Amino acid sequence: MGNHHTVDLLVVGGGINGAGIARDAAGRGLSVLLCEMGDLASATSSASTKLIHGGLRYLEYYEFRLVRHALREREVLLRAAPHIIWPLRFVLPHSPEQRPAWLIRLGLLLYDHLGGRRMLPASEAVDLRRHPAGGPLKAGFRKAFVYSDCWVQDARLVVLNALDAAERGAEIRPRTELVAARRADGLWRAELEDRATGRTETVAARALVNAAGPWVTQVLAERLGHNLTKRMRNVKGSHIVVPRLFEHPYPYIFQNADKRVVFAIPYEERFTLIGTTDVDYPGDPAQAAITEEEVRYLCDSVNRYFRRAVAPQDVVWSYAGVRPLFDDEAGSATAATRDYVLELDAERDAAALLNVYGGKITTFRKLAEQAIAKLATVLPIPGADWTAGAPLPGGDIADADFEAFLAAQRQARPWLPAELAYRYARNYGTRMARLLGAAQGLGDLGEDFGGGLYEAEVRYLVAQEFAATAEDILWRRTKLGLHVPAETAARLQRYLDAPDGDVGSEAARA
Ligand SMILES: Cc1cc2nc3c(=O)[nH]c(=O)nc-3n(C[C@H](O)[C@H](O)[C@H](O)COP(=O)(O)OP(=O)(O)OC[C@H]3O[C@@H](n4cnc5c(N)ncnc54)[C@H](O)[C@@H]3O)c2cc1C
Repeated sequence: MGNHHTVDLLVVGGGINGAGIARDAAGRGLSVLLCEMGDLASATSSASTKLIHGGLRYLEYYEFRLVRHALREREVLLRAAPHIIWPLRFVLPHSPEQRPAWLIRLGLLLYDHLGGRRMLPASEAVDLRRHPAGGPLKAGFRKAFVYSDCWVQDARLVVLNALDAAERGAEIRPRTELVAARRADGLWRAELEDRATGRTETVAARALVNAAGPWVTQVLAERLGHNLTKRMRNVKGSHIVVPRLFEHPYPYIFQNADKRVVFAIPYEERFTLIGTTDVDYPGDPAQAAITEEEVRYLCDSVNRYFRRAVAPQDVVWSYAGVRPLFDDEAGSATAATRDYVLELDAERDAAALLNVYGGKITTFRKLAEQAIAKLATVLPIPGADWTAGAPLPGGDIADADFEAFLAAQRQARPWLPAELAYRYARNYGTRMARLLGAAQGLGDLGEDFGGGLYEAEVRYLVAQEFAATAEDILWRRTKLGLHVPAETAARLQRYLDAPDGDVGSEAARA
């Protein structure tokens, strides 16, 4: 890939913020190169609670701007990606010793009205002795509040942004690290290293976006040779997954004595996702892992509410991620702001640098628009804001009506088992047609890797979605890791490594 051209924008980091900025910029006609040292979404953006939410608890910290923006984004994103994003009704059991009912009602009233809500139903008070969410709870809980937020398959949101960016001309380079970059003659000269081969190349860029998440200050200091002006506070959060604790579709939001909240969310059909914790974490973000203490904290938190106790040995999977929070010197990690800060560094006649500090999954699209607006003050950027009404790949589902879409798919392909049809529709939306091609039966989907994973999906993910390893496929493009037999990972990796050729080739990209 020698003698590289000059790009308008080099984006460092393939998490939600980098991918979102690359998509927005490519859609305006800029030439964009995105480099990600690992897999897309391999860091924080696959380790979230996976909520597109206003953040009810942030109201207590008077974060009205953040909450309003975030609430508005729920329906914008729901329309753009109704396959990977869906509404949920959260149940908040009332425990009078924590927050008084009037305070919660007030919060929910704000929540209902702060961010224009058309598709999502309003909040309400319910009697747990009659509501289905009451059954699994201890007898003392009689009253609850129910409100709307949305669920998102976080790692897929990143990949779909990257895919959309690629389809609009961006070059997406996972497994490629920014080693160093310096300004020279009005351009950035950046050295990129292919992590698989160790090969390096130099690219030139008019502007550089540092969207390295929890590494943002490290990239700034160690890769770009800058003095730091802003400080980050990296805060680890962990989740556990246990066999499902309840059958109904309502996630719970539990209040803890320490003012935190812990969610228990129906997950991947057969499981319950429980999280999260908030622990200051100065270490290497790549090494973040859940501790025994956090597992115990999460079990204890839900055990105050559920009749059936959860114990550490019930945990089938866990994950930990590091929130890159802007350091507003708030005291506790729980109180640190979740809002983002964009910093433009553009000395006269020098190539521009934009640093992204913080930012939620929920606000990535607005963040990208604002990033472009900042860059437009120093670079000629054509085009107006465009992402608000644009579907993400596979999200062009009529009226954003997922149920009708799924029903049509099942009718068109009666041979597809219901569970598989549902999963393909949820993961790929209208793109499931590309995955399935001309298949007329399960036999046409190729090798069966177990647990509902067939060769056709593997090929699709490699060809279209930048997947390279078994882990990319089992834990980020899908969560099949929770469902496949133990031997699948090794078998899948052997298949991907096989020299037979065209599985991994760029030529397979349609
Ligand atoms: C426990 C937890 C729960 C959360 N829950 C929610 C939630 O429910 N809803 C919500 O909206 N938000 C949530 N968040 C916040 C959200 O996940 C993050 O704010 C968001 O994912 C950050 O995205 P990012 O792109 O900035 O960072 P990242 O996803 O970390 O991406 C940065 C990328 O940069 C790459 N990188 C770093 N250095 C280099 C280099 N030199 N060269 C190339 N690449 C490099 C890294 O590999 C990484 O992939 C949660 C966060 C945590 C930790």
